[in-house]
Parts: sequence; C-alpha cells; structure tokens
Amino acid sequence: MSADVKPVDIEPVEEFRLRARRWLRENMPLAGPGYRRGLTTLPDEEELAEVAEERRLQRLLWDGGFAGLCFPTEYGGQGLTQAHADAFNKELAGYRYPFRFQIPTIVPCAAVLLEFGTHEQKLAHIPAILRGDELWMQFLSEPGAGSDLAGSRTSAVRQGDDWVLNGSKIWTTGAWWSDWGLCLARTNWDVPKHRGLSVFMLPIHQPGIEISRIEMLNGSKEFCQEFLTDVVVPDSDRIGAVDDGWTVATRWLFHERSIHSSPLTLRPAVASGGHESYGEGGASLLELAEVAGRLDDPGARELVGEAHVLKAAQRELDRRVQATIAGRKGSDQLVSLSRLMQGVVSTRLTTIGYELAGADAAAWADDDEAVGARGVNYLTRQVACVGGGTTEMARNAIAERVLGMPRELALDRGVPFREVRSGSAGGAAARG
Ligand SMILES: Cc1cc2nc3c(=O)[nH]c(=O)nc-3n(C[C@H](O)[C@H](O)[C@H](O)COP(=O)(O)OP(=O)(O)OC[C@H]3O[C@@H](n4cnc5c(N)ncnc54)[C@H](O)[C@@H]3O)c2cc1C
Repeated sequence: MSADVKPVDIEPVEEFRLRARRWLRENMPLAGPGYRRGLTTLPDEEELAEVAEERRLQRLLWDGGFAGLCFPTEYGGQGLTQAHADAFNKELAGYRYPFRFQIPTIVPCAAVLLEFGTHEQKLAHIPAILRGDELWMQFLSEPGAGSDLAGSRTSAVRQGDDWVLNGSKIWTTGAWWSDWGLCLARTNWDVPKHRGLSVFMLPIHQPGIEISRIEMLNGSKEFCQEFLTDVVVPDSDRIGAVDDGWTVATRWLFHERSIHSSPLTLRPAVASGGHESYGEGGASLLELAEVAGRLDDPGARELVGEAHVLKAAQRELDRRVQATIAGRKGSDQLVSLSRLMQGVVSTRLTTIGYELAGADAAAWADDDEAVGARGVNYLTRQVACVGGGTTEMARNAIAERVLGMPRELALDRGVPFREVRSGSAGGAAARG
C-alpha cells in the first residue's frame, strides 16, 4: 500500500473490481486475435503508430482514474494496494493495454524515481509518466560494461551547477521513440569502481545525443546505441547522492528483476491463473497446437503440459520469493531466483512453441503468421536469458549472496577505478 493512504480511505477491493470491469468494458479496446507485445519487427511508421496508441491508452487510464494503481496519490497515482492491482489485472484480461509503459518506464525507471527522487523530481515526472506523456529508458549497459555494470565508463564531470556527460550506452530498447533516459555514469575515477558512480535523468532527444539503431537477428531494430558528447545535465536532475550511484543502481536492478511480480505494473491475468509474462503475447500454445492440427498428437499434448507445469512452477516460485522479501524473511537477493527462473522458463516456452509449430515454423506462408511468429521468436529465444542481466549472473548472485558460497575472484576489488586495466583501447586512465 502506498505510504500516503490510510486503510480506512481505501475503496473495498470488490467494489473497485466492479468499477474497473465496467470502465474497461466501456473504454478499453479489446486485444483481439494477433495482438502482439514485446520486441517488434514492424516498419518504423507502424511502430510509431503503436507507440502513439499506447500513449493514448495510458492517457485513457489516467483520465479514468486507473493509472498508477499502487503509486502514491500525491504523484498522480491511485494509492491502492496489491490486492487492487491483482483485481485490475484479472479484469484486464482480453483488453489492450499500454505495454510499452510497463517496462522499463514504470518498472524500473519510475520505481527508482519513487524510491530515490526528490519531491520535486517526482512531481515533475511521475504524473507525466502516468499521463502517458513520458516514456523512459534505461541507460545502463555500455559496450564494455554489461554484466560488470559497476565498470561503467560514461563520465560525468561537474561544471558549476551542471554535469557534462560523455560516453556511450548500448542495448537501450526503444530509445529512438522514448523521451527520457535514466543514466548511470562515473563521477569519480579515484575510488574503487562501485564508489564512484552517480545516476542522472536526461531527455533523450537533445543535441549531444546521437542514437544509432541496431538490427537483431529477427529484424527488430528496437535496440539502440547512444553516443553522448558533452551532454549538459543540471545537478537538479541527479538522482541520489554524488558517487553513491551504486546504492541507486542496486535497487534499480532489484526493481528490474522483480518486473514480473511488481504491483506497480499492469499484467493481464491469463486463463491458466497467474499473469501474462512480458513478451509472451500472441496465440497460446493450445491455439498453436490447434492451428498446427496437432491437438490429438500425444507428443504435442506433452509439450503443452510441460509448458503448463513450467508456468505454474514459475508462478509459485515468484509468489514465494515475493512473500519472503515482503515479509522481510529473506534478503532482496532472492529476487535472482525469480530472474533465473524467468529466463529459463521463457527460453523453454519459446522452444516449445517452435517444436509445436513443427516444420512450418521454419518456412511459413504469408497468411500463416501465428506459426511463422514462433519461428521468428525462436531466433531470439535467448534474449530472456540476457536482458535485465544474464542468467549466468543470476546464478552467481544465488551462489554468493543467497547460498553464501565463496565470492568470485575480482582483480579490481579495492583498486581505484583509474588504475583498473581495461580491454578497451586507452583503458580507464585515458578516460578519467
Ligand atoms: C532484450 C534485451 C533488452 C535489453 N534492454 C536494455 C536496456 O534497455 N538498457 C540497457 O542498458 N541494457 C539493456 N540490455 C542489455 C543487457 O542488460 C546486457 O546485454 C546484459 O546485462 C549482459 O551484458 P553484455 O551484453 O555486455 O554481456 P557481457 O557482460 O559481456 O557477458 C557476456 C557473457 O559472459 C557472461 N559473463 C560475464 N561475466 C560473467 C561472470 N562474472 N560470471 C559468469 N558469466 C559471466 C555473461 O553471462 C554472458 O553470457 C538488454 C538486453 C536484452 C537482450
């Protein structure tokens, strides 16, 4: 429950559910067959039209009083509880919704802002996000710093009331159609890597930021690399304390890893119980088996059953992890279990889809999109094990921080970042 609401002020969940049901029926467009979410391979004009439509849907939620269900009312949210969010997600099944706002705009970006932003920063941006006016992206990864995020080399140098940023960020999903970036940068080269970072927010489309699109194997050009040259950011747009960006980043990664169970985001319920996984959009496996004419094939039935079990196991693990963390019975690091499970399950589900679709998923006719999509998805099935931090890194975190096994050898531990040797030309010293 958000901090500014007393339990007595809150609308009972069942009343809220009925109000939401009515409102959705009267206002929200139906999802319809073929409704897809996730990394798209649409031509740019169609992608931009979808982005505009999702801004409209977010605005619709705002006008209807359903935007930011668990955000505090003082920042434009509804100040409701997880139970209200669950009820809304159940009612949302079968409708379109502003998918692109859920990740990473609302979680993790708005969640980080809510946790570390000043009152003024929250007032300036959280209502704008909930109104559909601002889409945010994460400027975290760099060409030489992905898993080793604390090794970021994008530099921010103080100049009076401003900071001047130089460097490059990469793998920023959707930066080309987004408005703001949450950016991790190095503000101190003379301390060990984790202690010299700070977090800033910046408008993406401004002089000094060049955006280059990267094409993936499936044809999607959602990924971007940004080149920052003398980008001026006012100190009032710094989030958290100077050189304490790792504290912010640690919670940022926590929010990113708990996307699938966060009460802040919308996730329509699915027929099997639980919620739709992000990126899972499209025909269900059962529908796919039907289209492929394999409903009576024992092999196909086994695959559908396996998928069902995997989803149920993931759902239960997520619930348990969430309850353990919320009840303070275990550390936040447990979220790595959910992250690992999500990567493994999602990859297997994509493979099951491909296996169910059979040979048609490798070569399909133009009018056979449901089956063909499974072939295209298969090409990029590993993204679920990489985006949001790799599953290998999740295994490391589980081993070291949950099971208490010895920590991995790190040659840069305790060494001033300026002296850390780097594989990239010039190394750290040249950049400092
Ligand atoms: C779909 C998707 C969306 C993304 N969106 C964004 C975004 O919006 N913003 C953003 O900033 N980034 C984004 N990323 C980037 C993502 O966070 C990075 O790709 C990820 O953190 C891995 O970093 P890397 O690519 O530099 O790989 P590397 O860190 O170079 O890793 C390469 C391989 O080595 C393994 N490895 C590295 N270190 C270790 C270790 N210590 N122990 C064991 N194995 C190790 C890794 O697991 C991986 O298999 C996205 C990626 C994907 C796939």
